[in-house]
Amino acid sequence: MYFNHYTNRPVELAVLLVNTGQGGSDQIAEADDLNQLLEGYRDLWAGVAQPPKASELEAIRQLRDSLRTVMLSSDNATAAGHVNAILNDYGAVPRVSMHSGEPHLHFEPVNGTMTSWLGTTTAMGLAAVIVEDGVDRFGACSASDCDDVYVDTSRNRSRLNCSTTCSTREAVAAHRRRKDEAESK
Ligand SMILES: [Zn+2]
Ligand SMILES: [Zn+2]
Repeated sequence: MYFNHYTNRPVELAVLLVNTGQGGSDQIAEADDLNQLLEGYRDLWAGVAQPPKASELEAIRQLRDSLRTVMLSSDNATAAGHVNAILNDYGAVPRVSMHSGEPHLHFEPVNGTMTSWLGTTTAMGLAAVIVEDGVDRFGACSASDCDDVYVDTSRNRSRLNCSTTCSTREAVAAHRRRKDEAESK
């Protein structure tokens, strides 16, 4: 599918970033939280973007909302409009980068901020999914108390939950409902 250096992990990072804003508390409330999130992706940005600054938190929260809007678009045309706006706003410009030794595509402005790297990289990840598979690869968790987004990599696009934690919880709840119904008959 679309999994390679410049889509798989950027998509994963986009999902992680979006989900820092779900569940009632901001999980990138502090600059340290953001540093921690990005540390796991250092190999993607080392040498091409500046480390994150506390002053960028607000802009990155806005990016987070924009990415979520793309993922939950009702159709590809709507998603395309939203993702193109991000690419435009964050100054995406394609080029071949050698920072990891092997030539591959990068989209952030040269010597840009973390915000511009994060915006262009995650948006290109989403763009690749939309182009290759369609925006319906993305979804929001169907568990009643969870709004986390996910990318559905299942063959038949049957995924409904963000995690096995949520799907297990949903299955247990459904089982309990059926049992209660059976007993009340
Ligand atoms: Zn790279
Ligand atoms: Zn969930």
